[in-house]
Amino acid sequence: MSIDAAKIVATCRESFNKGCTRSYEQRKQLLESMLNFIKDHQQDMIDAMTKDLRKPRSEAMGMEISFAENEVIHALNHLKEWMKDEKTSKPMAMVGKDVYIKSEPVGVMLIIGAWNYPVQLILHPLIGAIMAGNTAVMKPSELSPATAAVFEKFLPKYLDKDCYTLVNGGIPETTALLAQRFDHILYTGSSPVAKIVMAAAAKHLTPVTLELGGKSPAFVDKDCNMYTVARRIAWGRFINSGQTCIAPDYVLLERETRDKFVEALKDAVKEFYGENPQDSKDFGRIINERHFKRVVSLLDSGKCVMGGQTDEKEKYVAPTVLVDVKPDDPVMTDEVFGPVLPIMTVSDVDEAVNFINSREKPLAMYVFSNKKQVVDSILNRTSSGGFTANDVLMHAAVDTLPFGGIGNSGMGGYHGKHSFDRFSHKRAVVIGDQSLESLLAIRYPPYSKKKESWFLWLMSKSRKSKAFPVLIYGALLCAIVGFLLKYCDVTKIY
Ligand code: NAD
Repeated sequence: MSIDAAKIVATCRESFNKGCTRSYEQRKQLLESMLNFIKDHQQDMIDAMTKDLRKPRSEAMGMEISFAENEVIHALNHLKEWMKDEKTSKPMAMVGKDVYIKSEPVGVMLIIGAWNYPVQLILHPLIGAIMAGNTAVMKPSELSPATAAVFEKFLPKYLDKDCYTLVNGGIPETTALLAQRFDHILYTGSSPVAKIVMAAAAKHLTPVTLELGGKSPAFVDKDCNMYTVARRIAWGRFINSGQTCIAPDYVLLERETRDKFVEALKDAVKEFYGENPQDSKDFGRIINERHFKRVVSLLDSGKCVMGGQTDEKEKYVAPTVLVDVKPDDPVMTDEVFGPVLPIMTVSDVDEAVNFINSREKPLAMYVFSNKKQVVDSILNRTSSGGFTANDVLMHAAVDTLPFGGIGNSGMGGYHGKHSFDRFSHKRAVVIGDQSLESLLAIRYPPYSKKKESWFLWLMSKSRKSKAFPVLIYGALLCAIVGFLLKYCDVTKIY
């Protein structure tokens, strides 16, 4: 399908310039339409994700559809207050002026989605674009075509397609879109493609939000309840057949606890998916042949102690655990992005921290320990997009937290108010009037020592720790300035 990318973007820009998406009432109405779309086409989206990924209904509902629905509800509950101008403190020289930050829409956004959470990764950024008052072009992943088709068929019934245009296609269509000028690009996908996106954006100086992946570690301390920890890690690793950007990608633990943890993992997987996970309706499939082959090639690393079975016809890879893996094994080099959990042993927390820090900054990090000092020590000595202690994935489920990566795992957080802030321009506004000219004359040439000291004094800041004296000082200053303005001809003091 060839597209006229220039025309698509021009139409969205025209709608934006006409102000079709700008006011609170318009945004509210658009969000309500989104809510209706989600409610009316819940089953279509579930069916589509079954086709694309054999995604279990509960995962489709819990991790995608109701997640997006809650995002809209959260936005509807708070948008009015988020849109309010934000008054800020101001220096003495700004007395009588209104000083505030105005959140204004940036214009036309480009949203490029990935296939693993094909509903959420289009709807969440789109909800953010609407909250911020922008128009948008959405490009779902071509690797999840059934879900993309649901958007193409039904979304235009809820959102004016001249404001929110869906483009289905692959690399040629994305490339054509990227050649256009957008006002913000949100890309979800792999780091190599993110570099292409960022290079294209740089040509127009377009800001980007990059939601990428990476190897998210999980450290398991020896004091843990292995039954609980294994269940939590198994759920996070094997949900969506391991194709989750914030899944625990590998486990670091001390040698003495490894076998106990592996046995607990085996029990957890049996409890979740039965004797043969291939027969379980709750275990998904790999998205396509290419990714199936990629995941299968990782099974040669280390020693397989659980799973390892594959079925090419079904693109099935069993929940698998590998031990004795080495740092330079394929499974420890790139993001696994499949139902395979490598386990590496370390001698202590310090070695775990050093290992984590020797690699790219991950999208997520998980620490399981009953000791606060162990959790704090890893939290304070490492860096990652998000961090959850004694659980997995949960930091992404809290809509008041920004969701995003750092370094190789991405840039810019979104979700909830963070989407609103990320996709708005924060305009610095000073609204004054034409009074106080004699006071402001101290900034004009011809300069003098006296004028300079008055100016510096009026603009000066005091250290916060001296709060009380500052209050007295400020009140005194107001009184002096008030007195001067009322009773003196200020120009004479120059
Ligand atoms: P993908 O193949 O679906 O690609 C993502 C998007 O990029 C698609 O819309 C695709 O059309 C486009 N694209 C691909 N190649 C391109 C090219 N050469 N030029 C222009 N556009 C191109 O998805 P993927 O890259 O396989 O996604 C998997 C990665 O995404 C994993 O690393 C995963 O961790 C990450 N991910 C991150 C998040 C997050 O929110 N941080 C969420 C999901 C997935």
